[in-house]
Amino acid sequence: LTFSSCGLPPKLLLNLQTAGYDFPTPIQMQAIPAALSGKSLLASAHTGSGKTASFLVPIVSRCATYRSEHPSDQRSPLALVLAPTRELCVQVENQAKMLGKGLPFKTALVVGGDPMSGQLYRIQQGVELIIGTPGRLVDLLSKHPIELYNIMTFVLDEVDCMLQRGFRDQVMQIFCALSQPQVLLFSATVSKEVEKVGGSLAKEIILVSI
Ligand code: AMP
Repeated sequence: LTFSSCGLPPKLLLNLQTAGYDFPTPIQMQAIPAALSGKSLLASAHTGSGKTASFLVPIVSRCATYRSEHPSDQRSPLALVLAPTRELCVQVENQAKMLGKGLPFKTALVVGGDPMSGQLYRIQQGVELIIGTPGRLVDLLSKHPIELYNIMTFVLDEVDCMLQRGFRDQVMQIFCALSQPQVLLFSATVSKEVEKVGGSLAKEIILVSI
């Protein structure tokens, strides 16, 4: 498998090339084709494996395709990534911006430490991807309605870490605001608890390990 055999938008291929991503990593080889076809996944993958691009490449591709096929739609978010820490969210957003360069692909960060008003304003201006921590996103949603019904991909990054931090209820609360999205779960360790979360979010989930 190569990136160019995946049917990705030419600009995304160019961005991958510019970043020096010449070949997909093992996790990307398994996750990208499955995620592009809309399937839900539970992937056992650690930091350094290329897990971030495993979910961002399909997200950027599907969002760009969706926008070109629905040009007159109001610009509500199409993908949502939850990660356990502010630092991880910032890293995910940086990579998302790099991969989405030149495409109709804007991102919003919803994490603690910055004023909520600015984060809300950015979402209201129209973004494709929201990246946030579960606590801050629940907080934002409790104060302001955000249209989440067009979210087609829901990612949980570092699920094991999120459970350790006690984010389970918030994750479920956010999931309940979505309408049957594809779910992509990434976890360094896949415990029974992590599998249970996967089972409660998707009827059919493909297990991916490298
Ligand atoms: P991650 O596991 O997502 O934290 O990624 C680890 C590092 O690998 C990051 O610095 C990425 O920019 C880089 N990376 C991800 N995918 C590729 C690839 N296919 N080729 C080269 N570098 C990559």
